[in-house]
Amino acid sequence: ASKARSTKVAASFALGLEGAEMGKVVTRFPPEPSGYLHIGHAKAAMLNQYFAKMYEGKLIIRFDDTNPSKEKSEFEETILEDLELLDIRGDVVTHTSDYFDQLYDLAIKMIETGKAYADNTEREQMQHERREGIASAHRDDSVEDNLKHFAEMKSGSEEGLKWCLRAKLSVDDPNKALRDPVIYRCNVLPHHRTGDKWKIYPTYDFACPVVDSIEGVTHALRTNEYRDRNPQYWWMIDALGLRKVKIWDFSRLNFIYTLLSKRKLHQFVNNGQVRGWDDPRFPTVRGIRRRGLTVEALRQFMLLQGPSQAVVSLEWDSIWALNKKVIDPVAPRHWAIVEDKKVSVTIKGGPASPEVKTLPKHKKNPDVGEKNTVYSSNILVEQEDAQSFEDQEEITLMDWGNAFVRSKTTDSSGQITSIEMQLHLEGDFKKTKKKITWLAQPTSSHPLIPVTLLDYDYLITKKKLEEDDNVEDFITPVTEFRESTVADANVKELKKGDIIQFERKGYFIYDGEDKNEGRMEFIRIPDGKAANLA
Ligand code: ATP
Ligand code: MG
Ligand code: MG
Repeated sequence: ASKARSTKVAASFALGLEGAEMGKVVTRFPPEPSGYLHIGHAKAAMLNQYFAKMYEGKLIIRFDDTNPSKEKSEFEETILEDLELLDIRGDVVTHTSDYFDQLYDLAIKMIETGKAYADNTEREQMQHERREGIASAHRDDSVEDNLKHFAEMKSGSEEGLKWCLRAKLSVDDPNKALRDPVIYRCNVLPHHRTGDKWKIYPTYDFACPVVDSIEGVTHALRTNEYRDRNPQYWWMIDALGLRKVKIWDFSRLNFIYTLLSKRKLHQFVNNGQVRGWDDPRFPTVRGIRRRGLTVEALRQFMLLQGPSQAVVSLEWDSIWALNKKVIDPVAPRHWAIVEDKKVSVTIKGGPASPEVKTLPKHKKNPDVGEKNTVYSSNILVEQEDAQSFEDQEEITLMDWGNAFVRSKTTDSSGQITSIEMQLHLEGDFKKTKKKITWLAQPTSSHPLIPVTLLDYDYLITKKKLEEDDNVEDFITPVTEFRESTVADANVKELKKGDIIQFERKGYFIYDGEDKNEGRMEFIRIPDGKAANLA
């Protein structure tokens, strides 16, 4: 099955990268160290890795650190950890700031060749001029004046702070991205790597093409919202006589009921609507991994998206359905029973004292290992199952055999309190309608394990928030659901991050012990079928 899938994945990439030569492709993933990576970044990172591998080339991880107002070293560390969680390791890690000297020299060259000018037009006026196609009053300043103003900018003087540097590209091109974009601006805050050496920083529009070219990038992967800026990217490279870079664009990833913007994710953390960046409700790499999304499923999903140009909001179901196909063949199977209102069952014909048998953890995959199952004449079943039993019905106790339901005791509220069954091991399990999970009543030598099952809802109530929607108006009031269960003792061996199936309940990832009570906590992994919520 996995072979069929990878063929399908390969087929969606039949075109590959234009002009790519085996062994010579260089791609790059350029995160800004201003937050944690989310699933959208994962798409960009995985596609870059995919092409680098496909052509036996090189992947550069480049921290795009040109804005000291937003960036911190700690985010570089967490981003590298996030990439590690995605199984992505660059061949090198670089920084845009490694090239500040060269970028500065190239900016001077742009001024000297009449391709850039300094401008102190007020921000709103500049926006107005760019919108209307009006030339700046400084557009035709002399090279000397421009050099002087750029020097003021570089010194960070009060006068310098009023200026920026603009590429002299066009006043009124129909593509507004070409209307003299800003290529350097001032910032007096210390930079996390270069300290106070610089008071001027290149913008993305300038730094990205230049550094791509200098670093030997052959194919720059960009989201297609930058398409209008592609001619500008090529212009910078031409203007400076640098080596050309090919652009391969792909669509930005969006999901329904999901915010993918670092700024908005910061808000949720700061307002306490989630417990942190690794909250399982979050679309961060940490959040989705903690919720049980495997790297394999993510990779398959991203590659299936491939070169699609459609910018749509995707359903989460499809990615979780892929994930289910990955985890189902390998997830060990355990049993858990809802603690509240569980029903005691006496089994006639059962063992006189508890017996332990070794069973496979996965009926179809012996490689998953073995577990101990306790057989006893006193077992527990779910209230919901007990309610469904008809008088004298023959049912199947999974991993044991058939039994007749002989009698039930019910309390005044209609809850079943106890049942008597009689084993009928000769019975044919193919003929019963109900196959139920059960657990031996705990004893001191055969305990059951208290387990909490957690499930989550979307953080927001609207499928697609519009620009002018206020997030606060669309916060889902309750997004965490807890259920107390008891599980078979084999779960004690699990390590945080292990994925299992509680049979007849679903897939879960072990999230560690609850800090107060020491209960094991498991997070439900959506399986792509709608209405997971209880
Ligand atoms: P955010 O808006 O969340 O802050 P960003 O685009 O500003 O994201 P960067 O750190 O600059 O964040 O992004 C690094 C790379 O990830 C860029 O190449 C960018 O195109 C890509 N990327 C960011 N968001 C998405 C997305 N939703 N889908 C696909 N690629 C994305
Ligand atoms: Mg960015
Ligand atoms: Mg952004």
